[in-house]
Amino acid sequence: MERLVTPAAMRAWADARRAEGARIGLVPTMGYLHDGHVSLVRVAKEAGSEAVAASIFVNPTQFGPGEDFEKYPRDEARDLAMLDAAGVDAVYLPGVKDMYPEGHQTFVDVTGVSRGLCGAARPGHFRGVATVVAKLFLASKPHVAVFGEKDYQQLAVIRAMNRDLDFGVEIVGAPIVREEDGLAKSSRNVYLKGEDRVAARCLSRGLFRARELFGKGERDAGILAGVAGAAIDGEPRALLEYAEGRNPVTLAPLAGQVDAVTILVAAKVGPARLIDNITLGK
Ligand code: AMP
Repeated sequence: MERLVTPAAMRAWADARRAEGARIGLVPTMGYLHDGHVSLVRVAKEAGSEAVAASIFVNPTQFGPGEDFEKYPRDEARDLAMLDAAGVDAVYLPGVKDMYPEGHQTFVDVTGVSRGLCGAARPGHFRGVATVVAKLFLASKPHVAVFGEKDYQQLAVIRAMNRDLDFGVEIVGAPIVREEDGLAKSSRNVYLKGEDRVAARCLSRGLFRARELFGKGERDAGILAGVAGAAIDGEPRALLEYAEGRNPVTLAPLAGQVDAVTILVAAKVGPARLIDNITLGK
């Protein structure tokens, strides 16, 4: 597995792979990897990638003031071993100064779909995400890039950016990988200790309850999202941020009877801000 640090090194690797005729797959991450990240590598290969690059970069521009940029968990040696074992060909590990040299002043702002949900609670977050993903695309020149449905709004933002800026990358969404008790895997789950870890189940519990109701014929988007929100509200250690039913493709707000809906939730549990979602009727 090759280790690349600068955008120029990443571009040179990508140019060499393209010269060989290889289809390049990209898996962007912030490191502190878990099975969810590893599943993205598998999906990249299933999508026909012949040379897979994974990036590890804790991107400062997507963190707001007072968020956990400084504290974000890191374990580079373990991450590299996991990516190697997963069959990744190159890992891109730029430093903050490689990505944002002195004088950096250009950002990508995806408007509509970045608003609301996590965009409301984290102003500037998706501008940081879109900017760094644009830079990763330009450096690694992928044919296909894989993102987890765990970050459902992020996936929609990236699809919009890719379309609007003519990147021409095939964007693939990968299903959410969960712990045995339903909690969506996340690097930030390391912040959950003791009773907070137990309480964190309320996010997936509410989503699964909504799925059950949908299975029994409930089609009211407000009721389905309300059930998911109530499970979080009923957990004293959790603070609900939002529980909303949205169009699975456009993320437009939905109310009343629906054929398909994505329910997205966010909550604080102890020191961790957690998100989760489920799509019903796809
Ligand atoms: P992160 O390192 O948290 O920025 O995540 C990097 C990529 O992994 C993003 O595309 C995430 O959506 C994806 N990801 C994170 N957690 C999961 C999970 N539990 N299941 C599937 N994909 C995930």
